[in-house]
Amino acid sequence: MSNAFFEVPVPINEPIKDYIDGSQEKKELLDTISSMKKNIVDIPMIIGGEEIRTRNKINIQCPHNHHLNLGTFSEGDSTHVNMAIDAASKAKQEWSSMPWQSRASIFLKAAELIAGPYRSKINASTMLGQSKNVFQAEVDAACEFIDFLNFNASYMEDIYKNQPESSDGMWNRMEYRPLEGFIFAISPFNFTSIAGNLCASPALMGNTIIWKPAYPQVYSANIIMEVFKEAGLPDGVINIIYVDGPVAGDIIFKHEDFAGLHFTGSTAVFKNLWKEIGNNINKYKSYPRVVGETGGKDFIVAHKSANPIEVSTSIVRGCFEFQGQKCSAPSRVYIANSIWKDVKSKLVNDINSIKVGDPEDFSNFMNAVIDERAFKKITSYIDAAKKDKDLELLVGGTYDDSKGYFIEPTVFITKNPNNRLMEEEIFGPVTCIYVYNDKDFEETLKLVDKTSPYALTGAVFAKEQVAIDTASKLLEYSAGNFYINDKPTGAVVGQQPFGGGRASGTNDKAGSYLNLLRWVSPRTIKEVYNTPKDYRYPFMD
Ligand code: NAD
Repeated sequence: MSNAFFEVPVPINEPIKDYIDGSQEKKELLDTISSMKKNIVDIPMIIGGEEIRTRNKINIQCPHNHHLNLGTFSEGDSTHVNMAIDAASKAKQEWSSMPWQSRASIFLKAAELIAGPYRSKINASTMLGQSKNVFQAEVDAACEFIDFLNFNASYMEDIYKNQPESSDGMWNRMEYRPLEGFIFAISPFNFTSIAGNLCASPALMGNTIIWKPAYPQVYSANIIMEVFKEAGLPDGVINIIYVDGPVAGDIIFKHEDFAGLHFTGSTAVFKNLWKEIGNNINKYKSYPRVVGETGGKDFIVAHKSANPIEVSTSIVRGCFEFQGQKCSAPSRVYIANSIWKDVKSKLVNDINSIKVGDPEDFSNFMNAVIDERAFKKITSYIDAAKKDKDLELLVGGTYDDSKGYFIEPTVFITKNPNNRLMEEEIFGPVTCIYVYNDKDFEETLKLVDKTSPYALTGAVFAKEQVAIDTASKLLEYSAGNFYINDKPTGAVVGQQPFGGGRASGTNDKAGSYLNLLRWVSPRTIKEVYNTPKDYRYPFMD
């Protein structure tokens, strides 16, 4: 019986474990990696709670070791897309009418499972399948995912509590209904937590989901599904399909019950999906909610008053952690001439000390890029840049795919602030630096603002408050997440809600109540206790 006002436990950010040598967590993680490497998987799609395998098996790649066989997953086709729509539709009634605290409880339990018994498994799968080092896996697959689940439950409570005023003789109420229909969640390869959140956040609000992850993330996506099942999520609430994007889109975007798209990935793909939804608008019962967090060309601007050591360290961490494959990773850097010499010497020294290799060797700061397609794309940028007269190679520039897709951290310098390396998202460990005259700070900020169509993240480094204020003002719309004296990566749920504007997305801020609001369609209810019995108003007497 639900006869009390329940309160979700107050969320706190999950502490990051250190994995220092000799620690229990390091031992457990290495044991899990070793047993996962021996246990070859045959991953099914999961539709309506049923495991569906097909004859079309796709190999699961390990980006840093071509010879490592992790297993396969079953690719589906249009039949499975239709099955998933049916399963999501069937599960909807019961799920949406389940008490909200029970829905919260399932996802809070999932958070607890990841924090405890599943922590090493979800981290190990992210290290092996997406080539993250232990710290990158821990902050993503464990901590950020736990935070998404815990904080969202609390934001849901805040939303439900939000009620209208009532005048005399009536009671006004607001109900936060889930959307009418099903949600299509499409996730990228680079963050296990983002993938989990793309399906979990609309589900938490009472929706049912068809989830299509990126193929290079299927290995860790399967662990997410295990966790949800163990947490007690009813069958059919989240249905995972491994189907080619356009095949799935062709059916889903034409379905009358398509109610929303929760997307994270590249700008080009999102724009195409938006167009497709627009073209089908007359087919839908409701206007679908279209939420997309997309690409970036993130920046660092260093003022002459900035500390060169801090600037250089932020470039190294920001640009090269997870091989630059974070949407928030800066890849265009503007440095004042007077501090450049000092930034440069620390930067070159630090980069030359970086080791690139297998994540199981904890001394490696960087690992492999995700797959052959990414390797070819990134190295073709490097090859072209080496021949470009506008550019000078400062450090790095080498790569090797004989064992895994390894690319050394690479920095170019340019005298042309509109070179393509300053404008295009490369999504790899390649960054470009433009050194400006100290006196041109304001001009440079204007340049930063108009150089790229994106507006995801950016950072300004300065000790002078006036410089910080000028940058904050002139870059008002250049980034959805703006950092002062810190690298522009590593947003924390509950602290820096994440998302960008312009070509970087709809800026619905993952990990905040703003995102959850997109997955409800409020119903206002007015109940009156003294219903009028005469059509005449007093002024008529
Ligand atoms: P991607 O756009 O190639 O793929 C994203 C997802 O879309 C995948 O699941 C893919 O299979 C699917 N897809 C592709 N074409 C489709 C189609 N026609 N119909 C339906 N689905 C389709 O992106 P990616 O390489 O996986 O991820 C990297 C990109 O994601 C980068 O651009 C990065 O900036 C962006 N990203 C943004 C954020 C953010 O919060 N803004 C976070 C992570 C990644």
